[in-house]
Amino acid sequence: MTSIALHGRQYTLPTRPIVVVCIDGCDPEYIERGIADGICPTIASFHRDGFGGIADCVMPSFTNPNNVSIVTGAPPAVHGIGGNYFLDRASGREIMMTDASLLRGETLLSLMSHTGILTAAVTAKDKLRKVLGHEMRGICFSSEKAATCTVAEHGIADVESIVGRPAPDMYSGDLSLYVLDAGLALLRQGRATLLYLSLSDYVQHKHAPGTPASNAFLRAVDERLQAFVDAGAVVGCVADHGMSAKTGIDGRPNVIFLEDELETMFGVSSARVICPITDPFVRHHGALGSFVRVYARNPAHIVAMMEATRAIAGIETVYAGADAARILELPADREADFVVISQEAFVVGSRSDEHDLSTVGDHPLRSHGGFSEQPVPFLLSHAMTPAYAARAAAGGLRNFDIFEFALNGVQANHA
Ligand SMILES: [Zn+2]
Repeated sequence: MTSIALHGRQYTLPTRPIVVVCIDGCDPEYIERGIADGICPTIASFHRDGFGGIADCVMPSFTNPNNVSIVTGAPPAVHGIGGNYFLDRASGREIMMTDASLLRGETLLSLMSHTGILTAAVTAKDKLRKVLGHEMRGICFSSEKAATCTVAEHGIADVESIVGRPAPDMYSGDLSLYVLDAGLALLRQGRATLLYLSLSDYVQHKHAPGTPASNAFLRAVDERLQAFVDAGAVVGCVADHGMSAKTGIDGRPNVIFLEDELETMFGVSSARVICPITDPFVRHHGALGSFVRVYARNPAHIVAMMEATRAIAGIETVYAGADAARILELPADREADFVVISQEAFVVGSRSDEHDLSTVGDHPLRSHGGFSEQPVPFLLSHAMTPAYAARAAAGGLRNFDIFEFALNGVQANHA
């Protein structure tokens, strides 16, 4: 066997180490500023010697749908994960997409691992680990829970001794650097040939491009990317989504509390607004993003509610559920009555009493979820084959093309 097939794509089995990194929340502006300011010489060398372009992530521009797209090579309509959090109409319960029970089909990591390729997935947050590691036979753990890994569940037990330092604080940029250091240790020790390393956007939610904290983080990531290349790997990098300031000129957050607004117009409990950015790790954005799903109590109100929502300042697009599924490639059977996407400088919340803005802290609110955060970097460390170079030049790249390009489209992988 020389390749695997998944969702209409073929993936060549790696003949040398392949490392795909998802730099969570890495808006292209971080890379542009970083290269201009000399912060990320390795990424600059990728642009020069390999490939540096822009791809679109999937909508909503949130973490879980995009990470699952990256490891399946398919949009959410295929794999079923359309948010971090969703309302199950059958039970009326709001549930976290924290495990693989909602995932449809396989991941390329699982298929690769079952061919005997040494496969590893390391995430910053544990919630992502369960879905990415679905049916994988290999190493899969999070830096959040690095101290408590077991061979039975994670394929590895002694992470802290392998990495050479204890697992970092959950709320730190180091949580991401630990993912890279762990991947590097696995690579150097010959314990993994195919690696997917998914970081956290903790730094990007707080710090704009060009600021000291974001520069320090980018520099640290860049040094590790060079270390992967030095260890003989082909490296591919994308982001799960970009990141934008969600504030007015006064620096205060531009928040539309949509459930409150709909209640004012249509009555108490007339609608339920679900924020699919919600997760237990919300301290840095108050669970506020630029994409929400709305469920009307009375179906007769849907059209009027959509019209009223469109008229709110800061709203960019309102789609009926079926249109959202078709246009944004989302699973139709899990879609709401309607979907609301805000303009770049705005976020949409549910009820004001459900969002704790005090947790955002001293930093101006930065978040994602809308069309404005769809463009992300798409980087390869090595030169592409003519066929893949032509595909990249034709445009229309998606972040979930990255494994195909890194496995099939790099000259060095065919040597
Ligand atoms: Zn993310």
